[in-house]
Amino acid sequence: MPCPCCEGDLIVVGSRPRAWYKSCGTRAKLIIRRLRCEPCATIHHELPDLLVPYRRYDAESIEGVLSEPVREDIAADESTIARWRGWFALWALYAVCVLQSIAIRFHLPVENSSCPSQSALHHPGRFVGNAAGWLRRSVRPIANLNLWITDPFCLYVRTLLS
Ligand SMILES: [Zn+2]
Repeated sequence: MPCPCCEGDLIVVGSRPRAWYKSCGTRAKLIIRRLRCEPCATIHHELPDLLVPYRRYDAESIEGVLSEPVREDIAADESTIARWRGWFALWALYAVCVLQSIAIRFHLPVENSSCPSQSALHHPGRFVGNAAGWLRRSVRPIANLNLWITDPFCLYVRTLLS
């Protein structure tokens, strides 16, 4: 993975623990690598795409609450779920605009929305599909092109960590 800012080479300069919660409420811990870009000296943290930057629960949990039908088995309290919904209401507007610009920049196909409702227009599923994993598929390109509000980027992870 090159530097999201300048595409320079990254070198590992350390690591730090990152705690997160699974949908069942179990707390888990990852070791996140700290990487420094040699050309631009920016520090990046290598975040697996099972997590959303700055969220304690995994992407699957957050997506489950935001999807229809809503998953009722996410072990998070009501205030946490309310924060996710508030965050997503704003973030989705930003994400749709960013994903649109990425689609134009890289000549990617975009699915036309057959539903004229406001929610369909502001859902990143038009760009990444609505199948399970749409949140991680939305987060990864935004973070990896340095278009997240802060600097972590995501790696594609095929299997869930136990
Ligand atoms: Zn760089």
